[in-house]
Amino acid sequence: MRAIFIAVGSELLELDRIDTNSLFISRKLREKGILMDMKITVGDNLENLSWTIKNACKRAQLVIVTGGLGPTEDDITREGTANALKKKLTFKEEIVSGIRAVFQKRGIKMPDINTRQAFVIEGAEVLPNSVGTAPGQYLDEKDCKVLLLPGPPREMQPMFEDIFARKIAPLSNFLMASRSLKFAGITESETDSMIADLYRKYKNPHTTILASPGFIEIHLLGRSKKSPEENKAITDQLAEKIKTRLADYFITEKDITFEEHIIQLLSTRNLTLSIAESCTGGGLGNRITNVPGSSEVFLGGVIAYSNELKMKILGVKKGTLEKKGAVSEQTALEMATGIRRLCQSDIGVAITGIAGPGGATQGKPVGLVCLHLSSEEAEQGVQKIFTGDRQIVKIRSENCCLNLIRQYLHRYQN
Ligand code: ATP
Ligand code: MG
Repeated sequence: MRAIFIAVGSELLELDRIDTNSLFISRKLREKGILMDMKITVGDNLENLSWTIKNACKRAQLVIVTGGLGPTEDDITREGTANALKKKLTFKEEIVSGIRAVFQKRGIKMPDINTRQAFVIEGAEVLPNSVGTAPGQYLDEKDCKVLLLPGPPREMQPMFEDIFARKIAPLSNFLMASRSLKFAGITESETDSMIADLYRKYKNPHTTILASPGFIEIHLLGRSKKSPEENKAITDQLAEKIKTRLADYFITEKDITFEEHIIQLLSTRNLTLSIAESCTGGGLGNRITNVPGSSEVFLGGVIAYSNELKMKILGVKKGTLEKKGAVSEQTALEMATGIRRLCQSDIGVAITGIAGPGGATQGKPVGLVCLHLSSEEAEQGVQKIFTGDRQIVKIRSENCCLNLIRQYLHRYQN
């Protein structure tokens, strides 16, 4: 079964309101093997909406519309759907009584315009709204099922879950198996060139590579009508092949962030960490301290942005800054050893770089970042030239630093 989602509301075309209903619904559909082929946002325009619904019904077996079920003039979903499907709207007195009761409970008299919400498309099942006033509607047509839901997520979600479990999920005969793998220290294109020959051999499961700065997720979705065991086995088979191929970059399969993973690794090894940050401005420390329980392993850090502070607090040598510059491997090394000494931690890490857009000098381009990890067993430095704007260079630097810690722990603390 293929699905199309339609978000209705002119506000969703503007910058300040974001459609989240489609995300909730696509996740629920996917769990039952139904794929959302398209999501479309339509402003409050009757003709546009009718046209969209009419065409969506020609392409998909399930069309889900959210929003525009309220009582006001711009709430056009009922009428738009009736027009699209060439069906009549009929007035249901019992819906008005229901809405009147909701208002009575709030101690208010129902405004007359709310009677608009009592129009039901011929043949539709009315879906009661346990949270607000706008009822939903479900049309169980042979070729295409149409589901109309209110816009506000807290009204939409329980209504969707109920009708989905009762009427829609049982229609899907697909079996699902999924794996989600996380990697760092590798770019999206490198990832793809390393594993394309593997995943291209499999029509099922479907492979998706999701990249964010310095972090890669690979999703495998097995979807089959054959036995669940076979579907799971083939999905697992590809997952293991990818993991083996990308073993040097693999982080975890758990549903956790990179920083949570690092905190877990440090705490199982009983190791403490401190951080000296320059260009990331405390961003890494912020991420680390967002992890509950990080105080067990994270002792603290310093944002040493100016050269004076790098010298005064971290003990970076004047000569290093003068000869090599603030963004240099030697400065990163001295920052890392400095913070480790200051905090008496097992591991000290440092980040110094040029996040841009200004600050480039002869031989030192924007995006140049030097990182260093200092511990009793090892001194490890890396130098990178990251692309992207200021924010992206900062995030890449943080993830690169987390990856430096991950690599160190694998090499020396396994
Ligand atoms: P109401 O009775 O509340 O008017 P409605 O079905 O007419 O219900 P809309 O008026 O379209 O819903 O939307 C009401 C609010 O719900 C929007 O202002 C927005 O905050 C939220 N909303 C609507 N559609 C979405 C969506 N696709 N994703 C997330 N939020 C949404
Ligand atoms: Mg509305």
